[in-house]
Amino acid sequence: MRKKVIAGNWKMNKTLAEANQFVDDVVGKVPDDDNVEAIVCAPFPFLPSLVEKTKGSKLKVGAQTMHYEESGAFTGEVSPVMLKDLGVTHAVIGHSERRAYFAETDETVNKKVHAAFKHDLTPIVCVGETLEQREANHTMDHIENQVRKGLEGLSDEQVADTIIAYEPIWAIGTGKTASSEDANEVCTHIRNVIKDMTSEDIAEKVVIQYGGSVKPANVDELLATSDIDGALVGGASLEADSFLTLVEAGTK
Ligand code: PGA
Repeated sequence: MRKKVIAGNWKMNKTLAEANQFVDDVVGKVPDDDNVEAIVCAPFPFLPSLVEKTKGSKLKVGAQTMHYEESGAFTGEVSPVMLKDLGVTHAVIGHSERRAYFAETDETVNKKVHAAFKHDLTPIVCVGETLEQREANHTMDHIENQVRKGLEGLSDEQVADTIIAYEPIWAIGTGKTASSEDANEVCTHIRNVIKDMTSEDIAEKVVIQYGGSVKPANVDELLATSDIDGALVGGASLEADSFLTLVEAGTK
């Protein structure tokens, strides 16, 4: 059985004091259950403190993006070497907001995914269609393209260790969740694409999350489907109680 992975994506929210308080409230309450993994993907300035606070605990700390180069003249960027050095374990790659506002492309996503593996960070690779693409029936083709380009050149073992987050753009921060059937249909498609790229064995190992207005009220239904193995959560990950409820859902 694949484990469930619940990742909070705080985006550009919280102060350091609020971030620390959240982790103080959550860290001792993450279920001691190997079938569920809990991650908070926090803004860069909070990472050293959160890593320190979560040492030896079940709560992992991730970044929300990173550069693909190890160092150099890239003003304002943060490298995978820096993240690894801090003790960060995961990095969200290619979130739709990064693609829309910061010019990330499938090509930069692919470079970042390779860089993450080179530095022993687990990438959470985001894919998702716009409302226009969904209405024009282009969802499956678009997602397939993003998965193939984003994971190009990885070894089978690296593909198996990649977390993919299916996040329909029209469902992010809008309160509109894809129905569990629609979300699962795309996640099944992603698994089939991976099977075609690698093997059935590898495809069965890949954790595929759904993201887009996941909250305590809809998480159970989403996680009960055949191919949704967790959630990447924005708004509902900002409060400790709500985040813990989502993590608990992963143990069911
Ligand atoms: P949301 O964000 O849960 O607030 O819709 C999800 C995401 O962008 O990862």
